[in-house]
Amino acid sequence: MSTLVFLEHHGDELQKGSLAVLSKAASLGAGDVAGVIVGSGLDGLAEQAGKYGAATVYLADDPRLEAPLPQPRVDAIAQLVTEHGFDTVLFGQSILAADIAAGLAARLDAGLNWQLTDIAFDGDALVGKQAALADSVVVDVGWTSTPRIGLFRSGAFDPTEQTAAGTVERFEPQLQDYSLAAEMVEQAHAEESGPSIEDAKVIVAGGRGLGEPEKFALVEELAKALGGAVAATRAVVDAGWYPYSAQVGQTGKSVSPGLYVACGISGAIQHKVGMQSSKTIVAINKDPNAPIFEFADLGVVGDLHAILPKLTELLQARKS
Ligand SMILES: Cc1cc2nc3c(=O)[nH]c(=O)nc-3n(C[C@H](O)[C@H](O)[C@H](O)COP(=O)(O)OP(=O)(O)OC[C@H]3O[C@@H](n4cnc5c(N)ncnc54)[C@H](O)[C@@H]3O)c2cc1C
Repeated sequence: MSTLVFLEHHGDELQKGSLAVLSKAASLGAGDVAGVIVGSGLDGLAEQAGKYGAATVYLADDPRLEAPLPQPRVDAIAQLVTEHGFDTVLFGQSILAADIAAGLAARLDAGLNWQLTDIAFDGDALVGKQAALADSVVVDVGWTSTPRIGLFRSGAFDPTEQTAAGTVERFEPQLQDYSLAAEMVEQAHAEESGPSIEDAKVIVAGGRGLGEPEKFALVEELAKALGGAVAATRAVVDAGWYPYSAQVGQTGKSVSPGLYVACGISGAIQHKVGMQSSKTIVAINKDPNAPIFEFADLGVVGDLHAILPKLTELLQARKS
């Protein structure tokens, strides 16, 4: 098996999700694992990748690759796969990675399994784990041809440092005219204070039980007092109460913090699948029969509007 992992970067940092996929691939111990970084001004990034198990890090460093657009990256990765004969190409979930993986599958006429939560060998066959039927079961998925392309759910693994020090190989990507036709007109970043929900050790999540968007301030204040991040259910992001980037669940992000405080969240299966691997789940809900109490480690039955300010006050008092 020869594996290539797409290593996405934001500025001068490699994305945690793609490093996690890289270290998972290296831990399979089945042949060499290489990483590919595509962009402009990539000095220092290859070194980071070597620490997570990449025997070789391929760098396509070209000013035309500055904007995070998928098509030129499809060109570069397809070229590497063809030249070096990689039989497996893996991606960590992101909007850019999903676009590249789909484009690469079309370009190479390859099979793509997405939303994978794990990967392992069953005898000689490489098998992916994929949640199905609204995440109520996990099924094995495979590939009938090579190259096999896999896209992993965010939060599926944590990056683990390895001893292998990678060598760096620069290559000149042959970019197609049609791949350069799209232009990045503007790029904006959502303003965030505190850790992102993927990285946070503590998450305070709000649901429809908050009653109105303004009440997210209660969740934000508690998150701040705990040094954590704010998450939300789909019901409230669909209602425009909080940004989609905070949505946890089947169609949102998967998170696994040490502490997940669910406030006014019923605990629907589609929400549960995104947060059930949290170490400790605390639920605050006024309905003693809410499904969330079936899997919470600690349940508080009561009105969150009374409980959250008090809890925040107690934490602040304790800190000072
Ligand atoms: C295909 C599909 C994909 C989906 N993907 C996702 C997903 O990714 N993430 C997700 O979250 N959902 C997802 N959903 C939606 C999911 O089914 C639920 O509808 C949603 O999670 C419910 O959100 P909620 O818990 O905020 O709201 P509700 O289910 O309305 O629950 C609100 C809770 O707040 C409690 N409450 C009310 N007032 C108070 C108060 N004053 N104090 C304390 N508690 C109070 C209530 O008792 C209730 O339990 C998906 C659904 C489908 C069909």
